[in-house]
Amino acid sequence: RSSASIGVTLFNDGSYSIDELMQRADLSMYEAKAAGKHTVRFFDPRMQEAVSKRLNLEQEIRRGLLSEEFIPYLQPQLDDTGCLVGAEVLARWQHPQRGLLSPAAFVEVAEHAGLIETLDLQMLQNACHQLALWQQQSATASLSLSVNLSARLLYQTNFVERVLQILKQSGADPHRLKLELTETLLLDDLPGAIARICELKAHGIRFSIDDFGTGYSSLAYLQQLSLDQLKIDQSFVRGLPSDKNSLEIIRSICILASSLQLEVIAEGVENHEQYIALRELGCQTFQGYLFGRPMPLIEFEHLLP
Ligand code: C2E
Ligand code: CA
Ligand code: CA
Repeated sequence: RSSASIGVTLFNDGSYSIDELMQRADLSMYEAKAAGKHTVRFFDPRMQEAVSKRLNLEQEIRRGLLSEEFIPYLQPQLDDTGCLVGAEVLARWQHPQRGLLSPAAFVEVAEHAGLIETLDLQMLQNACHQLALWQQQSATASLSLSVNLSARLLYQTNFVERVLQILKQSGADPHRLKLELTETLLLDDLPGAIARICELKAHGIRFSIDDFGTGYSSLAYLQQLSLDQLKIDQSFVRGLPSDKNSLEIIRSICILASSLQLEVIAEGVENHEQYIALRELGCQTFQGYLFGRPMPLIEFEHLLP
């Protein structure tokens, strides 16, 4: 079966070039596709505005990556005795004009433009460098760092080699490095993901499933991948302790994790009541504003004993 997506642009005064008109019709056609296909969309100047804005941002990100404007912020992770065990690396953009920007301002566009791989690798490099420095002091030697990975990077052909190369160059202990992946990302190509994860795990790198509980709830992959950690999504933590559904979901995740011998970490812990409830449910590791917001390295190092 065939269907058509049609983009239409009107011209009354003839002051546009052919290229411009075709571009507008093309943009409208993509809008029709995005609206579910088999439909018609007329050109609207706002479409063009949105596209120009995105292209500008892409250019800016490209420039920012070259001039190393993306910096790692660290958010503390604590165990159930209140001890600092490490941090998650969260990217921030130190923009020369717009100031400090959060991932909401750039991650999506970077993904679409194929720039997220570069960002992820820069964060990974930073993290490995930091781990290598920490290894030299007894107070910091046991800390680990979790780095977020995008699907685009995981499925790149030379992904495993790149990660191993970065590790080797930095001298970081692979056992201190954790890579965070989302479950939806794994399901794109499960056999491919398994092969890559196993290879890196053989070198000691650990893996965590981010936003656990929000994806397709296909549990088959948990068996097939020898993962290390489940990260309970903050949407469940937010409901604690009063919301019964959240409570039961977290309880189930903790039971599942314990039978598969996985560690559990809760993110988005904002208050003491949530912390107490999580501990009672069997959660072992915690991350959230209650213990500290994502912060620059210097600030993080002040938390150290
Ligand atoms: P995520 O990996 O799920 O990270 C957790 C987010 O929750 C972070 O937002 C963090 O600042 C925020 N958060 C932590 N504790 C709390 C809390 O107690 N309450 C609330 N309300 N929020 C909390 P952030 O830093 O804005 O990052 C957003 C997302 O951007 C991340 O979600 C991650 O998916 C993505 N991201 C960040 N850095 C990178 C990176 O280097 N590479 C890739 N691929 N993605 C990244
Ligand atoms: Ca994460
Ligand atoms: Ca998360």
